[in-house]
Amino acid sequence: MASKDPFNFLNSPMVPPIPCVSCGNNMHCVHRSPVAEGERQQFKCATCSHEVERVVGSLPSDAAIQAEAEKLLGMKRPKH
Ligand SMILES: [Zn+2]
Repeated sequence: MASKDPFNFLNSPMVPPIPCVSCGNNMHCVHRSPVAEGERQQFKCATCSHEVERVVGSLPSDAAIQAEAEKLLGMKRPKH
């Protein structure tokens, strides 16, 4: 049911709620701010007021995708 695809919600203006790690109810996004890595999202639980923050990647550029691919491959790309 819950997709782990980090790019799903980036295509939508609304950030869907996430389950509260403390009480299990929904945590709603109360604040979003752009950061170097993408977007910082602050969630607050309406039930227990627990707050969490997470940073999600922005829509990746080709260069970012390339860099990520190189990182995943252990930078094994041969140099010429
Ligand atoms: Zn909670």
